[in-house]
Amino acid sequence: MAQKKSLMQKAIDAAKKVVAKPAAKKPTAKKPTAKKVVAKPAGLKKFNSYTAKNNEKYMGRSQIKHFIKILNEWKLELSNDIDRTVIHMQEDVTAYADPNDRASQESDMALELRNRDRERKLIKKINLTLSNIESDEYGYCKLCGEEIGLNRLIARPTATLCIDCKTLDEIREKQMAK
Ligand SMILES: [Zn+2]
Repeated sequence: MAQKKSLMQKAIDAAKKVVAKPAAKKPTAKKPTAKKVVAKPAGLKKFNSYTAKNNEKYMGRSQIKHFIKILNEWKLELSNDIDRTVIHMQEDVTAYADPNDRASQESDMALELRNRDRERKLIKKINLTLSNIESDEYGYCKLCGEEIGLNRLIARPTATLCIDCKTLDEIREKQMAK
């Protein structure tokens, strides 16, 4: 009887071991990611590149199609950002007792509002660019009428000045500011 019991005990021990093994690997609990909206410099956005075929027409169908797509996607992205902030700010109206917490919450919100403001301005600029496309003015400098150039537009799809006029414009602005 004693031997039987110990056999039983062995079996129980073995079973325990089997059960114990897979339990060893516990999934590491992920920390909840902070809800903070990271301010990204909208002006430095990287756009999809575009490779023109040999002897492709400047601002021809294919290029125009590319820019319309990029501009619309960008606009959608900006609108989504704005919507997200509104939701985030509504959720985040916590009344902090600590004046330091309150101050940092206020400056966070001020920063977000500034970002949103900049995004709204960008959306306006994108809309203006889209209407320039519609009226066949896109891709040509507003000042001198020269081609702005495909590479410049790929980097800055909302550019309205060629690089020469833009440079002169910036020099003039700097002089005015002095
Ligand atoms: Zn120009």
